[in-house]
Parts: sequence; C-alpha cells; structure tokens
Amino acid sequence: MKKVLILTAGFGEGHNAAARNLRDALELISPDTQVEVLDLFESTYGRLNSLVKQAHLGVVRYAPTLWRGIYSLLDHVSVADSGVTGLTRLRTALGDVLRVAQPDCVVSTYPAYAPIIRELFRDHSEKPFRLVTIVTDSISVNAAWHRAPSDVFVVPNQPTATVLHAAGVPGERIHALGFPVSPQFATPGLVPFPLEDDGPIKLLYVVNHGKKKCGKVLDRLLENERVHLTITTGRDAELKAELQDRFRERGDRVQVLGWTNQMPALMLSHHVLIGKAGGAVVQEAIAARCPMVINQIIPGQETGNAQLIQQLGLGMVAERNREVPGIIEDAFAKKARLWHEWRANLLKHSRPAAALRIAELVLAQCDDAGDWSKFAPAPLQALPDANTPGVPAIVDGNAARRSLLCDFHIHSNYSDGKLTVPELVDFYGPRGFDCICVTDHLADPRRVIGKLSNLSNLVLSESQLEEYFEVLDRERRRAWRKYGMLVLAGIEFNKDGLTKKSSAHLLGIDMQMPIASALDLPETIAQLHAQGALAVASHPHVFKSEWGKNTLYLWENQDEFAPLLDAWEIANRNDIFAPVGLKRLPFIANSDFHKPKHIYSWKTLLQCEKQPDAIKDCIRRNEHVSITLYREGGLLPVTTRIGRPAELVDKPARALPAVAMLQAVNG
Ligand code: ZN
Ligand code: ZN
Repeated sequence: MKKVLILTAGFGEGHNAAARNLRDALELISPDTQVEVLDLFESTYGRLNSLVKQAHLGVVRYAPTLWRGIYSLLDHVSVADSGVTGLTRLRTALGDVLRVAQPDCVVSTYPAYAPIIRELFRDHSEKPFRLVTIVTDSISVNAAWHRAPSDVFVVPNQPTATVLHAAGVPGERIHALGFPVSPQFATPGLVPFPLEDDGPIKLLYVVNHGKKKCGKVLDRLLENERVHLTITTGRDAELKAELQDRFRERGDRVQVLGWTNQMPALMLSHHVLIGKAGGAVVQEAIAARCPMVINQIIPGQETGNAQLIQQLGLGMVAERNREVPGIIEDAFAKKARLWHEWRANLLKHSRPAAALRIAELVLAQCDDAGDWSKFAPAPLQALPDANTPGVPAIVDGNAARRSLLCDFHIHSNYSDGKLTVPELVDFYGPRGFDCICVTDHLADPRRVIGKLSNLSNLVLSESQLEEYFEVLDRERRRAWRKYGMLVLAGIEFNKDGLTKKSSAHLLGIDMQMPIASALDLPETIAQLHAQGALAVASHPHVFKSEWGKNTLYLWENQDEFAPLLDAWEIANRNDIFAPVGLKRLPFIANSDFHKPKHIYSWKTLLQCEKQPDAIKDCIRRNEHVSITLYREGGLLPVTTRIGRPAELVDKPARALPAVAMLQAVNG
C-alpha cells in the first residue's frame, strides 16, 4: 500500500485548498492509497499559530502595503536558518511524524517544509521518500519555494515554470500541470457556461472584506438590462440584509447569497466572476473557464495571480472598483468580442483535471521511494501500546464486546460551528469515534428568534438543506472508508420563544431528507419518525448556556412529550441533567460540539452493532447505554493527526477509563 503525506499550512487559503483537492483526487483514483493532510503549524504552534493567522488577516484587510513588506522579508530570510526556537519544535515534530508515518511520498503545499526536510536528512546519502512541492503562487513566486531542493516541483502554468527555471531549478524537475483545483471541475460532460446573443449576462460578484461599499457599482452594472447579478457576501449577515433590502425591487435580476461552499457550481453558471485575486479563487475560475474581472489585489501575495489573468488574457484587472461597470460594458459590446476572446484563452489554458494529473505523478513518485528500514523507528513511547485501556468492555458470555463511542450533537460551519463537515470527519475519525451525527441549527422562521437568527447566517437556511444533505452523504461514504466511522445526518430544530419556558431545541438523528422548518414540535417529531429518525430533546433542563437562554419547554410539558420523544440529553457538553436520570427517561450524552475544545465533554457509549438501525434501536430501548467523559491520553497531538498506522487504527486513543460513568439499568 502506498503512503502519501501532504503538508500544508493555513496561512492564506491557497495552500489548504491545494492540499485538500489533491487528497480528494488521490482518494478518487487510488482508494487503496493512504493519504493524510497535516498542518504542522497548527499542531506545534497551537494558539500562537492562530494569532499569527489573525494578525495576517488583520494586516491584509487594513494595510495591504505593510503586508507586501512582510512578504518580501520572507523572501530574504531563510526559514530554516532564522534560528527561531519555535522552528526547533517544528523540526522535531516533523521528524517524529515522518518516522511514524513512513510515507513513500511527501507533498508540500507550503514553502517552509522543504528546508526543514533538507535539514533533517542532511546526514543521510538518501532520504527514504520522494518530495513533491506544489507551488501555489503564480508568476511572482516567493524564493522560499525553491531555496531548498525538491525531487519534483509542480507549478500552475508555463509562465511560473519559466520563473522557476530562471531561478536555477533544473527543467526536468518542473512540471506545469496546473493548480490542483477540486476534481469536481473534471467531471465528464461538464461544459463552460454558454453565452447567447442578446441573452442574459450573468455576473457573479464576490464582495470582499473591507470593500463593502459596492452598492453604487452594482447599481451601475444593473443599468445594462441584460445583466443578472448573483452577489455573495460571505458571513457578513448585516451586509447581506442591507443588499437584499437595496435590491428588493429587482428580485428578478438580483440574487444575494450569504456564505456558500458552492463556488465551483456558481462559477460554472456565470459569464464573469468579479472579485479579488485570491490564489484558490483565480485558479477555480480558470478551471471553470469563467473570465474574471479583478477589483482588489493584496500586493505581493496576490500580485502574480492578477498578472496571470492579465498576461494570458483571461479577463481584466480594474485599478479601481468603479471601473468595473465600464470593463463589463466593453467586454459584451460588439457581439461580446472581448468576452469571447477571454473564453478562447481560458479554453487554451484551463487545466480542470490538474488535481488528477498531479495525483498520478505523486503515485508514480511513490514507486521510486527509498527505504525506511535503514532509519530508526519512531519513539514508541509516543504511541499507545497494545495494552492501552480503551473503553471498558462488558463481558457477554465469554466474548468481551466493545462499546461504540458516539456523539450525536455536532455543529459544522453550515450553522455556527467552526469546522467544515470534512474537517469534522477528519477530527472525530482519528480519535476512534464509531458514530457521529452532524446536527446544524434550523430555525423556525415563524418564531421571533428564528427570524433574527435567519438573518445572522448562523443557522442553516431552507435553501441550503439539499446541499447540506448531499455533503453529509459524500462525507458519510468517505468516513466509513477511511475511519470505519458512521456519519449520520441530523438537524437541531430551534423552536425558540421569548422565554425559556416557551423555547425548545429538538435533535433529529439519522435523517434521510429535509423537513420544513415551520412545523410545530409534535408535527416535526412525527415527520422524523416517519423517516426512521430519532427525536431527542436537546439540553432539556437548566444549564449554564454560553449562547443565551435555557430551553425548558419540552421538560415543562413532559406529559405530552415523554411518550413522543425517543430520548433526552442527560448531559450536554459539561452539564449533567440529574432530573432526566431521576425520572428514568431514556438518555444520551453529547458534546453540542462547536469547536475543537468541545471534544472534552460527555459522550454516549452503546453496546450494539456498528450500524445505524442497531444504534437507533439501542437508544430507543435504552439498554446497554452509558455515558462517559471523553479525555485524550497516551498520544502526542501530532501523531493523532496522522492517525493511520495500524496500531492507531486498531487501538485508537479513546475515551480513557471513564472518569465518571453512568451505567444504564437494564429493563
Ligand atoms: Zn441547542
Ligand atoms: Zn446545539
């Protein structure tokens, strides 16, 4: 079996996007290959790292010229030689990780790793793996990318290859395969969005941070009767509401979207993308053959992306945002001659299957990998030994059965959670969970609070539900293949009134399809049951809530709801609701996960087959159900991120001997 380790860093979106897309491509064309994506900056620097990231974003947003200074500084300081003590930690961490994972090929999408790898293997005639560097910059390539050697450099286009060659990298090591955009772009039969003579001109306008005053420009674009606008505002709910208000009268030609993870689909259904020169966005637009008008550039980092659009004639760069309407007019004047030119150039330069081609190259490199047997194995004390106590097994006859570790209340960034659905899978999977249920908030629009929260972008909107179920379905398959972990689709129905006694949160667990948000509680429960899902009362009793009010409606109306509900949360994150136990109601315990630190909280253990129906049945009957307080132990954080060596899969870091454990009384 081939092993590939992809190293990335979350500074700027391009590196992570490249890493993620390459992983998807590898899993697509070679399901047997073991692929891991790792951000060592995240694990070795922790909080410091996120501070750096915040500072980076702050600097970018408010002082682009200052950022250019920092970027060119990076160009001149060798990362490995700068002697920062933090880098010693990074070097140690990377050394450990490599010896544990023993990859055949290491792929780096961030320039800081290659110098450390050179350092680590300086005393060896040959390193035991191949190194592939994926350059995510275009044209203005930071020298940090090629200062340290790499067996192969993959670059997004020919002009970038020329720059690298001029800097002394041997030509045979440079492969201009394109930027690894999502393999979705290579879906067979996918055609670039056609333009009809005198038909509508569909523009996709992405509002950037710090460039919110775009109303006038949008008005001017709409002066052309053919123009239809789709505007995305990201997570800025205020701006979204403001623009919706501004264009209320023009609903037929203007659509305002908030945050979306469907950019590829949007690019494939619009004639021009108007937005900033971000690395991932520019490359995706090229893959979608969607011409781009750039209205903002972060100097240094994004200069090359803008140059690329300009040099290859794939669109236009506007010096000022107010020039955008003029550029659009020109592009579509004279039977859209200029636009057709952009499209023709895009067809020539677009590499929608780049991720697949790079994946093939990486797999070929694996065949030339060196020999790990000459190198000392990883420090074993860092790994759990075979006797690490896992979840206490309950003896059933002579066979000790292991309990399933479950968490049925988890929020992704479809509502107010921090992680995406794929990130949740890669977070829970390596921690040895057997079953998780993602339950994003869906607010009832008829209720006052529902109206407010729908505006705030922190809940699922009804229009996103289909996409939400699709993404969960895709991740369900990946999680099972990769971690043997069940992923169930769910929703937390927020039925909030003005007081705690009129508010309720209801979990739907293992849902097959969406349910309307504007139903009352008994109707919602009936619909959940009709599709075989569980209906569970969420934080039903008094607790210290981080987000506001208690939700006591179900508890106060127990007589009505106890016969309808399948279970009640006896614990939610750190709170325990003793009355649920005293009343002998069926129970489960969940994280109400919103961010990584919430993992250290109450969980459910079930003794049943790892299979959705068996799990639901176990909860309904409430036999062999117990709860445990989850803690990690015995593993270094970095090695848990790797997660794949056999020892870790068979005997994963699990809930330690439960600090506290409540055993269900049978019958
Ligand atoms: Zn809730
Ligand atoms: Zn919740």
